[in-house]
Amino acid sequence: MRIVLVGPPGAGKGTQAHFIASHLAIPRISTGDIFRYNVANNTELGVKAKEYMDRGDLVPDEVTVAMVRDRLAEADAKAGFLLDGFPRNVPQADILKKILADELDQKLTVVLELVVDEDEVVRRLSGRRTCRRCQRVWHVLYEPPSQPGICDDCGGELFQRDDDKEVVIRHRLEVYSSQTSPLIEFYADEGILVGIDATGPVEEVTDRALSALQPYVG
Ligand code: ADP
Ligand code: ADP
Repeated sequence: MRIVLVGPPGAGKGTQAHFIASHLAIPRISTGDIFRYNVANNTELGVKAKEYMDRGDLVPDEVTVAMVRDRLAEADAKAGFLLDGFPRNVPQADILKKILADELDQKLTVVLELVVDEDEVVRRLSGRRTCRRCQRVWHVLYEPPSQPGICDDCGGELFQRDDDKEVVIRHRLEVYSSQTSPLIEFYADEGILVGIDATGPVEEVTDRALSALQPYVG
């Protein structure tokens, strides 16, 4: 299966991607995680991306698309993948369609939209903590790790992302509404959009997501 997750920052894409990808045994490809890894390791790509990420702007399409093209060409993505955080605008969606068709002879199976209102998204983002080692996300109130500051999965250190500060959160929500939300109509027009209510406990959202994807499995 070739799945794209869409939804505003803080909707729970990373959280759900983790469970969905392991349930379906496909790789999770998170452009945000790949960028953060490159920023942390001060690579050429990280240097290019950092200023945009710090402001909450999208990294330029040519940088992002080149990175995704390389990742999709890797062997583990041949049988399917779950894209989390890409595409983020209509030009990226157009290019993704072209890469899949021309270079890999594939097309997307389904696009899953996580629907959450803006107040909840702000509550989720302000308490988000991310594992430095395995990228798993937690929340200080909603999904607390058993020991504060430490990832239950791998024992890594949890940190608050620089772009999860109030002013940057506001800007990222504007960027979502102006640049990313048009993807909803784009994929609805393609007939591959499925939306689910992404509020309530994490496990319930996962159940809803897996039920919504069920008709496409196989
Ligand atoms: P969120 O958890 O808020 O959805 P991500 O971790 O997906 O955020 O992305 C963090 C930042 O990385 C974005 O604000 C943006 O600067 C950059 N980024 C991630 N994916 C893309 C993309 N597809 N296009 C451009 N920039 C991206
Ligand atoms: P995204 O990748 O869409 O930006 P995340 O998966 O990083 O979103 O989730 C944002 C924050 O909300 C994290 O701190 C996460 O623990 C928390 N969260 C995710 N799903 C839920 C949920 N169903 N209920 C409450 N908090 C959640």
